[in-house]
Amino acid sequence: NQSLAEVDPEIAAVLTDELGRQRNTLEMIASENFAPRAVLEAQGSVLTNKYAEGYPGRRYYGGCEFVDVAENLAIDRVKSLFGAKFANVQPHSGASANAAALAAMIKPGDKMLGLSLAHGGHLTHGMKLNFSGKLYEVAAYEVEADTFRIDMDKLREQALRERPQVIVAGWSAYPRQLDFAAFRSIADEVGALFWTDMAHFAGLVAAGLHPNPVPYSDVVTSTVHKTLAGPRSGIILSNEAEMAKKINSNVFPGQQGGPLMHAVAGKAVAFKIAASEEFKERQERTLEGARILAERLTASDVVEAGVSVLTGGTDVHLVLVDLRNSQLDGKQAEDLLHEVGITVNRNSVPFDPRPPMVTSGLRIGTPALATRGFGAAEFTEVSEIIATALKDGAATDVQALKARVDKLAASFPLYPGLEQW
Ligand code: PLP
Repeated sequence: NQSLAEVDPEIAAVLTDELGRQRNTLEMIASENFAPRAVLEAQGSVLTNKYAEGYPGRRYYGGCEFVDVAENLAIDRVKSLFGAKFANVQPHSGASANAAALAAMIKPGDKMLGLSLAHGGHLTHGMKLNFSGKLYEVAAYEVEADTFRIDMDKLREQALRERPQVIVAGWSAYPRQLDFAAFRSIADEVGALFWTDMAHFAGLVAAGLHPNPVPYSDVVTSTVHKTLAGPRSGIILSNEAEMAKKINSNVFPGQQGGPLMHAVAGKAVAFKIAASEEFKERQERTLEGARILAERLTASDVVEAGVSVLTGGTDVHLVLVDLRNSQLDGKQAEDLLHEVGITVNRNSVPFDPRPPMVTSGLRIGTPALATRGFGAAEFTEVSEIIATALKDGAATDVQALKARVDKLAASFPLYPGLEQW
């Protein structure tokens, strides 16, 4: 019954160091968030001990009476959150949710049409080294070179030419809302299934601040740990009973063995929180923060430094910065902001001349800082810090900017009262 610090001081130190890093820096990776303490408690619990292959009421192990309660709560809550008739809450991650969803929809050799990774799609939407690109034939759509937006008329023409069995809507780096009705109508016209991967914007959907893909899609997948701010994991939703059966059998036994019941319990907690007014207010601040950042990074002094914002703004929780004409490449900009105390990730822009390890862009998101409590004033200050660094480049006064970051971080304590976790 020894504590972590007693059994393994090296790993205990990692946890303490990481808590310190999260507290003392400003987290602006668009796919990250801070799970509430209640979610951390559910995840770091005795539920990790339990095998529960199968589904509530139909398990292959005894002793599942309590984990059944947790899974049923997670299912009921997520169904009500997104207005879906069926939900599977067992996927270990977004990628495993997508693997099971694809296996439920199509068979190896069938064709999927998804947004190219280089233009903001996800690995699991058909990238050639990913299972999706290996198992399925892939046709990729792209954004337009002048607008950086998806042109739905061109997508329709491509779908008519390619005749895919599945069309995927969803992205990891795209700053605008998608037209789910148009995707649905194209899918119907070519006889394809329509799958939406709402991993990034699910929290906005839950808060009613982004169109909901569920009524339009045959299948919707999501992660739970991005804007939704729950445990690192995935979910699959559908409104069709036959599809739901296929999804269940393709998660277990198709893709996975025992579900992670501690994560399932954490999901139930996250879905409860996501239905609250407080959560909605936080998503509003998330959007407001992204708009403030986009506005600052499109002001003339930043534009003069060769920096621009893809599509000229944002409708969601992230801003994509185009550095193709800047003195900094993506790696240098990421490193510079890291020195200042702001964590972001470099990101290829569409038609990027630089390789993926360098890139000519940044993806900057506001969910984690909104969770931390940031409002318009703090997002204005952090946007000013980012704008200054991107303008000044190698000449940046790192110490001065870092002092401003430290002040912001200190004003919004993260996990107050936690000594370590
Ligand atoms: N789908 C989208 C759109 C994503 O952006 C991501 C993660 O970045 C995933 C799926 C995969 O999630 P995970 O990293 O949990 O496998």
